[in-house]
Amino acid sequence: MRKEVLIIGGGVIGLSIARSLFKKGFRKITILEKRLVGSEASYAAAGMLAPQSETESIDDFFRICSQSNEMYPEFARELFEETGIDIELDQPGTFFLAFSRDDSAVIKRLHEIQTKAGLKVEHLTAQDIKRAEPFVSPDVREGLFFANEGQVENRKLLAALEKFARINAIDIEENCDVSEILFENGDLIGVVAGGKKRFADEVIIATGAWTSLIKCGEIRLPKVKPIRGQMLSFHTAKRLFSHVIYSPRGYIVPRKFGKILAGATVEDVGFDGSFTEIGIENVRQNALEIAPSLAGLPVDEKWAGLRPFSRDGLPVLGSFPQCGNVHIATAHYRNGILLAPITAQIIADNVAGTASSEFLSKFGLERFLRLAA
Ligand SMILES: Cc1cc2nc3c(=O)[nH]c(=O)nc-3n(C[C@H](O)[C@H](O)[C@H](O)COP(=O)(O)OP(=O)(O)OC[C@H]3O[C@@H](n4cnc5c(N)ncnc54)[C@H](O)[C@@H]3O)c2cc1C
Repeated sequence: MRKEVLIIGGGVIGLSIARSLFKKGFRKITILEKRLVGSEASYAAAGMLAPQSETESIDDFFRICSQSNEMYPEFARELFEETGIDIELDQPGTFFLAFSRDDSAVIKRLHEIQTKAGLKVEHLTAQDIKRAEPFVSPDVREGLFFANEGQVENRKLLAALEKFARINAIDIEENCDVSEILFENGDLIGVVAGGKKRFADEVIIATGAWTSLIKCGEIRLPKVKPIRGQMLSFHTAKRLFSHVIYSPRGYIVPRKFGKILAGATVEDVGFDGSFTEIGIENVRQNALEIAPSLAGLPVDEKWAGLRPFSRDGLPVLGSFPQCGNVHIATAHYRNGILLAPITAQIIADNVAGTASSEFLSKFGLERFLRLAA
């Protein structure tokens, strides 16, 4: 296809969309990235693929997350064939554990809601948990097991997506800040990138937490704000855990090789993407509650990232009612890694004019126009 497509933002969402567009036959695709591709929220993430463990209602958001989760095995297999990079997809299920009476009440409620809705969730006794994960705290009371969940190494995912782009002549322009989307008589003509005008037939806004900062003619972009998350990782020679393990206060994510990640804070502090000693200590304590033996491992990295959060906390997907060739894919908040495959498919279909996903109307921009009215 000869259309000139500009994707603004080279996180997991922009990179995944670029790949899906290429696979649909688009050949003039450019990613414009203000820093380096894959260096913001998508790099900071924990890579958990967990549509169920935080769910209290079986709604459209749960369904889009579950469908994307189901796409991961094929996504990982294809990326390996295309790039030789193993994104370390690991879906053995996740644990959600209780360490106090209050935690047990949370677990009871979640179990009841999900069983009623017909979801697969298993109750575990303390003995079940210790048998499966011997390094979990002796204080554990009980837990839940979500069999369909797991993790992916999100930094390897970014490396694979970037490699896909580079070997398929998808242009990547880094250190290239897009300030404005340009229109003439209501029609899209391009963008201003790095202070220069760039022509485009289609523009896709995949700018995560920074989405509201772009000028878009008369169109008001939906409000997206940054929510900071701080994390750390412990270095370990051996793999000590086989599952992602949550408590109501934090989580640990055991990578296949050498690392156990612990997360994460949830902070409304604007565009400050740095970590703080207090934040990191909080995360560390929550991880030690799950597994006190982590105290003996050295911390090898501390970091923070900015999750993109919309007014209703839900993703924003689709094209603008005022101009069908400006598209948006943002506000994935805590689930952008999980939602990357389905977002890429929905947006690529939409750009190609073959969109059929029910999620376009559920997560489209019309809801904000309705709110404004
Ligand atoms: C600590 C933490 C833990 C997380 N854990 C998980 C998890 O376990 N599972 C999960 O599914 N999700 C997780 N998330 C959420 C997930 O990381 C995000 O939802 C996802 O990365 C969003 O992807 P994105 O591509 O939209 O944003 P980003 O990765 O932030 O990419 C947006 C890109 O756009 C660029 N950009 C912005 N404005 C412009 C502009 N004007 N011009 C050019 N480029 C621009 C930015 O520089 C950036 O590179 C976590 C997030 C954090 C912070």
